[in-house]
Amino acid sequence: MNTTRCHTYAWCVETGDHFEHYSPETVVTPPRKNMDPLASAYTYDLGYGPAVSFQTEDFTPEQARTKARELRTLADAIEVMADAVDAIRAEQPAGGAR
Ligand SMILES: [Zn+2]
Repeated sequence: MNTTRCHTYAWCVETGDHFEHYSPETVVTPPRKNMDPLASAYTYDLGYGPAVSFQTEDFTPEQARTKARELRTLADAIEVMADAVDAIRAEQPAGGAR
């Protein structure tokens, strides 16, 4: 088996002779094991130029950046929510809200 790394792209995980290039997939894991990932993305090139795949849809670099900004906004909002819950819990006696 030819395990030579890809000569075309540094991000490609394929080895040996190949014409379809794929990066590792990055995923947001689901809240429960039997669910699909909440989001997934990877880069690939099937010979027509590289593209970003987000949720199996082809994105241009600008579309990918737009989606990344949305996800960053969501991530920031989730952290704010978690901080708010922490602050409320810290104020309450053991036993939680009534
Ligand atoms: Zn490759």
